[in-house]
Amino acid sequence: VSATSSNVVLVTGGTGLVGSAMKNLIDTEPVGSSFGKKKDEEWVFLSSSECDLRDIQQTREIFGKYRPRMVIHLAARVGGLFANMSSQHTFLRDNLLMNDSVLQISHEMKVEKVVSCLSTCVFPDKVEYPLTEEKIHLGPPHSSNFGYSHAKRLIDVQNHAYHDQFGDQFTSVIPTNVFGPGDNYNLESAHVIPGLIHKCYLAKKNNTPFTVFGSGRPLRQFIFSRDLAKLFIWVLREYKEIDPVILSVAEDDEVSIKDVADAIIEAMEFTGPVEYDTSKADGQYRKPASNAKLTRLMKESGAGSFEFTPFKIALKESVDWFLNHYATDA
Ligand code: GDP
Repeated sequence: VSATSSNVVLVTGGTGLVGSAMKNLIDTEPVGSSFGKKKDEEWVFLSSSECDLRDIQQTREIFGKYRPRMVIHLAARVGGLFANMSSQHTFLRDNLLMNDSVLQISHEMKVEKVVSCLSTCVFPDKVEYPLTEEKIHLGPPHSSNFGYSHAKRLIDVQNHAYHDQFGDQFTSVIPTNVFGPGDNYNLESAHVIPGLIHKCYLAKKNNTPFTVFGSGRPLRQFIFSRDLAKLFIWVLREYKEIDPVILSVAEDDEVSIKDVADAIIEAMEFTGPVEYDTSKADGQYRKPASNAKLTRLMKESGAGSFEFTPFKIALKESVDWFLNHYATDA
């Protein structure tokens, strides 16, 4: 089976946070521009309702239907700190199965390039900061999400094994904490930004205190989903390595959880009391990642320096999306 005659880019997880930002980009950027689609290229955004990628036979069938030339593999079982802590095995196994199906079928069907999505939680817990691409396997990940982290780390091992034995061009990217319109706002499983947006909304609506989990002191680097989608497209076009590349704002662009809460309070115009529930976990204190490799390679490729959307502007857009869409039936 050869897919080389097709011009399909298949995006797994195509209806998720990053997939929908990518769809938006592909639908709106001019054809042939840096972050747009190429002439004659067809983009397919796959949703989990169309195929359970944990099932290799279903995966074979859907890949047989679209015959992708390239694959962006975003599909994953994801969740915030608290979801990970409660379901280590589900996060491990669902991701192992999905990644194995997508990579193996991409190999069988001779897909030209696969770009998979990792996460900065793949890095060792005890490691010298900043995080850089070559430090992934230097020690165990933080215990709070070891199931997810190990499954994601293995993608890098798989990519190298496919390349080493068969010459496959499978690579991966490591984004920091992603947020944006159309996020997962489920309070049980949400990441911190959508979780706090939802909680602040409810606090305002019900006249109750706005409760932030943990001390508010942990630091994170957040990346807006649209910025990440653009960088993904650059990687698909230009990045040649098997090793991953970190997709992040600069190393000194860390934001505390309290800063996040304050920005949400401002965007929501919330005036009630704010509480920090320190009985809840803080997770990792910080995990600053370096974007030096990305910056260097983008310059070398002629793409110049990338303009990240300022955090507060991106956050306001995300809050507005929630108020205009999700909040109407929340
Ligand atoms: P992480 O970066 O993998 O730890 O993922 P999260 O996006 O879940 O961020 C977790 C950080 O935000 C921790 O320091 C939490 O204590 C803090 N946090 C505060 N309130 C919330 C909340 O309502 N939901 C989540 N998921 N995290 C929260």
